[in-house]
Amino acid sequence: MSSLFASTQTRRDPLDILASVFGHQRFRGQQEVVVRHVTGGGDAVVLFPTGAGKSLCYQIPALCRPGVGVVISPLIALMRDQVEALKQAGVNAGTLNSSMSGADQRAVRDRLFAGELDLLYVAPERFSAPGFHDLLSRVDIALFAIDEAHCVSQWGHDFRPEYRELVQLKELYPHIPRVALTATADPTTRADIIERLGLEQAAVFTASFDRPNIAYTIVERANARKQLLAFLAPHKGNSGIVYCLSRAKVEDTAEWLTGQGIPALPYHAGLDGAVRERNQDAFLREDGVCLVATVAFGMGIDKPDVRYVAHLDLPASIEAYYQETGRAGRDGLPADAWMSYGMADVAQRRRMISEGNAPEAVKRVENAKLNALLGVCQTASCRRQAILTHFGENHPGNCGNCDTCLNPVETWEGTEEAIKALAAIYRTGQRFGAAHIIDVLVGRVTDKVTRFGHDSQPVFGAGRELDAKIWQSVLRQLTAMGLLHVDHDSHGALKLDEGARAVFKKDRRIMFRRDPVRKSADVRRALSATADLDPQARGVFEALRETRAKLAKAQGVPPYVVFHDSTLKAMAMARPATLEAMGTLPGVGAAKLERFGRAFLTAIAGV
Ligand code: ADP
Ligand code: ZN
Repeated sequence: MSSLFASTQTRRDPLDILASVFGHQRFRGQQEVVVRHVTGGGDAVVLFPTGAGKSLCYQIPALCRPGVGVVISPLIALMRDQVEALKQAGVNAGTLNSSMSGADQRAVRDRLFAGELDLLYVAPERFSAPGFHDLLSRVDIALFAIDEAHCVSQWGHDFRPEYRELVQLKELYPHIPRVALTATADPTTRADIIERLGLEQAAVFTASFDRPNIAYTIVERANARKQLLAFLAPHKGNSGIVYCLSRAKVEDTAEWLTGQGIPALPYHAGLDGAVRERNQDAFLREDGVCLVATVAFGMGIDKPDVRYVAHLDLPASIEAYYQETGRAGRDGLPADAWMSYGMADVAQRRRMISEGNAPEAVKRVENAKLNALLGVCQTASCRRQAILTHFGENHPGNCGNCDTCLNPVETWEGTEEAIKALAAIYRTGQRFGAAHIIDVLVGRVTDKVTRFGHDSQPVFGAGRELDAKIWQSVLRQLTAMGLLHVDHDSHGALKLDEGARAVFKKDRRIMFRRDPVRKSADVRRALSATADLDPQARGVFEALRETRAKLAKAQGVPPYVVFHDSTLKAMAMARPATLEAMGTLPGVGAAKLERFGRAFLTAIAGV
């Protein structure tokens, strides 16, 4: 394929590359600041949520700087699609990995030595393979990009020991900029990444972790299958993921959905490798596949048009929930995150934690994580606010795009109860966990209560009118509201946050969700990426989708590698009649215009 770049020596302006190669008129958020910082030779840590556009933060600097940009990415199958997408945009990209034949690897090496590659994708294992550093020492390197950088941390979800080797880059290539990128919102993991990769001197770029295009819905389980079908009904023809806890449930659910006329495929670590790969490929390459999976599926999946993520079981934590739901709507178009959970799962999860053989400290953290997640499930106020609060971000609430905002739940006025709970924590010195605080509130005389003399506190028994279960929910909801937090460093003690002051002064009214909530009707809005198109434009969109499917199939690539849904949507609205007009649409760069423009013009004209 001919390159848009005469050679790697060509230097161009980032904005120019953004428009001519990637077809975007403007940088998003802090992309431009990062791009300019890295192009200028600086190290960077990029902490943006999924879908924010992290890739361009290293791809454009790699094209602006002389030499090849080396990208470290955890999964071979996904590197392949990324390289494919870059090639379609006219960028000289390649990958070196163990699944390639000797001849293919040699061809890539030759291009590398000839200075013909702008981006080289490799797995972290490469760095400990013999000869790799020798290879790199013979070429100009534009930068190192460490994608999915949370893989370096044991705190994260996807620990990969080979990522630890990457700290060497600092010593071996002191003058080459390094960019670490991740969508991890968890502060502990973030700090660990910086330390493990030796990036203490790097500029850190953080964006809000809000994903405004994702609608959150959490329902208490009544009839799981019926609820799932109702949820899936408006998603006909859309791609999505349904997460289940066990392999058996994955298989049952996939089979049952198929029987209900929803094309569904299973994915879990116990399936034969070839079957797993085939199912993943179908999900990536065909429109409208529902992938039913355990959490073994998803890392590094950058399919932009996943329209929904459903959880049939409680995820492990808010972090896991955020990461798993974050796979929906990377393209910025409306997407749905839906979860059904039952209190029975919660009891089972607690049993698993207590019977496991992890050290006490770890069990405590796991229990606290479960509680924090339940806080989000049981909140009467905005889910988005509760999630972001957990990540230390302020959100005003009333997002208008979660179930509690759209269908307010039954609540009770609990300002007095909130004051009692907060006072019990405060009066006992902010040194105790939820179980003890509840004992104090309901006036239960335990060894611990007597030992600390808490039975002589005025708060002792002040909350007798409610039972322990309700106090548990009150404490969880107060946590989700950001009025108190669990301090893992002091054995899970509950501590007050700044906002508690306003409650004590009665400047803030507290409403709790009535517990447990059993609403049979699950009122939802119909959601689809094209909901806002008029019927005629929707017809054009469908025609464009067919053209895209044909072009993608002919080349053996996923449809979104040709054009994203957002680009098809723009075409369907603008209905361009000339190549020139089409070239102004978002996502249409010079190379794609030349290759695909005519086919799509024909499709538009034919509707
Ligand atoms: P991330 O890696 O942060 O999850 P990606 O790099 O995959 O995100 O980008 C997500 C989507 O946003 C892609 O569809 C990409 O084409 C699009 N995108 C990125 N930057 C821009 C921009 N400046 N303007 C318009 N779309 C963009
Ligand atoms: Zn909301």
